Formats: sequence, structure tokens, C-alpha cells
Amino acid sequence: MKYQSAAEIGHVDEKGHWSPNEPIQYAPIFQWPIKPVAILKYLFSWGGLIWPINLICVGLGFLTNYVLQPDLSQTMTLQLSWIAQMLLRNFIYLWIVYGGLHYVLYIKKMQGTKRKYHPEWQSASNKKFTFNNQVKDNIFWSNASGLLFWTAYEVLYVWAASNGKVPLITWNQHPVWFVAMFFVIILIREVHFYLIHRLIHTEKIFKYVHSLHHRNNNVAPWSGMSMHPVEHLAYMTSLLIHFIIPSSPVHFFFHTVHLTLTPASGHTGFEGPLFNGKMPSGSYFHYLHHKYVNCNFGMEIIPMDKWFGNFYDGTGKFKFIRKKHKSQTSKIK
Ligand SMILES: [Zn+2]
Ligand SMILES: [Zn+2]
Repeated sequence: MKYQSAAEIGHVDEKGHWSPNEPIQYAPIFQWPIKPVAILKYLFSWGGLIWPINLICVGLGFLTNYVLQPDLSQTMTLQLSWIAQMLLRNFIYLWIVYGGLHYVLYIKKMQGTKRKYHPEWQSASNKKFTFNNQVKDNIFWSNASGLLFWTAYEVLYVWAASNGKVPLITWNQHPVWFVAMFFVIILIREVHFYLIHRLIHTEKIFKYVHSLHHRNNNVAPWSGMSMHPVEHLAYMTSLLIHFIIPSSPVHFFFHTVHLTLTPASGHTGFEGPLFNGKMPSGSYFHYLHHKYVNCNFGMEIIPMDKWFGNFYDGTGKFKFIRKKHKSQTSKIK
């Protein structure tokens, strides 16, 4: 596919906000009438469903399980040594992905402001953020909460798996299901994320919990995992499916890296593909959620927002009530 320049696909308004020229589209999978060519293109083209992001997550699932994870025979009892090893591995993943994207886009500014949604850089003196600094605030919550919950869920899983408490399958037993399970996880995540996200947007939970993530109306990579501990706990409950649905540790680790690393790409603050078409990234769909709060709660494959009447395609007048919670602009108590 030919790379299109920023001006070809979007425009900058008088206040410096970038937006695409065309309305946001859902992935073609759940559209009626069925469009087989569009579906095949979406599945296999660069920046589509499989390649590169989900395939990288599959690779990380294998790498984690077969190279960087203590064997199930060692994880039958909870011991600090193997738990620390997993924590360190996840810490390295987190910093390579979030730190790397932040470094190239916000420190080195290799993309400049081309296709940047918001005209400003991250705030370094705003009282609504911990340490009065948006980047430090986001790094703090990603590491002090996100990394711990992520690792805790993994510890729970491997401990349970090594004690025979989760239904396991192997490639040799069920090759078709083994492959299908990666897609099942992606789809379950979409539905789960929408439901949890709607729940944490209820008045009280938003005020005390989710408003922390919404401090970021101008998003950057570290915003992706910047959540209140209660939100991290709830957000990762999709992992509990592995205690019910037969799967392998590779699927589980695919699921964990999908949950914890892909938000970096969805919150870059830039419309992809970046660097002259080399790197698919960014989500104007989710950026509009941060901007207007009351739309686009879900993701971009299953049109949950369309079905529930919360979808805003970014063009025309914003038709929902633009929610401005007090807690969105003041510091979390
Ligand atoms: Zn977000
Ligand atoms: Zn939200």
C-alpha cells in the first residue's frame, strides 16, 4: 500500500489539532454486507489485524514462555526468586516499549509534530498530575501499579498451572484450537474492555478511579498504562478466561503482553503509520475518547460503540454531551 503523507490523509485546524479527513472506520470483519476482499486485506496487510502488532505479541508469548519464564516445575510454590525474575522481565518489556516510543516521539521528536493529534507537548507544570508533571505521573502509575498487577496475575497463573489448576492444551493435541485461541483472545478482550470501561465510567468509579487515566486528554505512550490500581485490577480480569477456557501458557503470555504493551501504541498521540509509513500506531478512535470522554469506549474491531450508540467517527459536530468531570481537571484525592 502506498504511504500517504500527513496532508493527504488529514488536516490541522486553526488551533493546531490534527484530524483525519475521512471518518473513522471499524475493521471490516463485523460489517454487513460481508466484504471478503476488505476482510482479507485487513487480515493480511501491513498494519492489519495480524501483522505486525499481534504477530509481535504472539512472538513475545513464545519468547516469554520458552526463554524468559521459569519452568512450571519450579513455580509450584511461591518463591521470591522466580517472582523477581518475572518482575524484572516485565519491567524490561515495559521500558523497551513505552520508554522506547516516548524516547523517539517525545524526547528525540523524530516524527516532529507531523500527524500529532494535540498541538502541545506533555505538561511539565500542572497540579493535576502527580509530581506536577504528566510524564512522571504516567511513568509512576505504570510502574508502581501496572507492572505489579501485571506480574501478580502472571504469578497467580503459573502457580495455578504448575499445580494442575488450569485447563492446559498443547499444539500437538489441538493445532487448530491452538491457532484459533489467539483470535479468540483478541475478540474477548474487545468485549471485556468495552464492558469494564463502561463500568468505570459510572459517576462514582470515574471520580475515584478512572479519572486518573483521563488526566491525559493529550495522550502520549506512557498514558496507556497510567491507571488507578483498581482499574489495573479490573482491566486485567480478562486473563481469568485462562482458568476456564483450555489454552496454553503461550496464549496466556500473549494475552498479558497484549494487555500491557499494546496501549503504548494506542496512546502515542500520533496518527500512524509513523516514520514515513514504517510503523503502524496511534488510535484516533481512542484519542477521541480522551478528548470528549463520552464516546468510543471500546476498540476498533467489534463495533460495540456503534451497537450501543456511543460511536463518534470524528467528523461533524460532536453529538453527545461532552463530559467534563471535576475530577478530570483536579488532582485525585
Ligand atoms: Zn486511554
Ligand atoms: Zn475512559
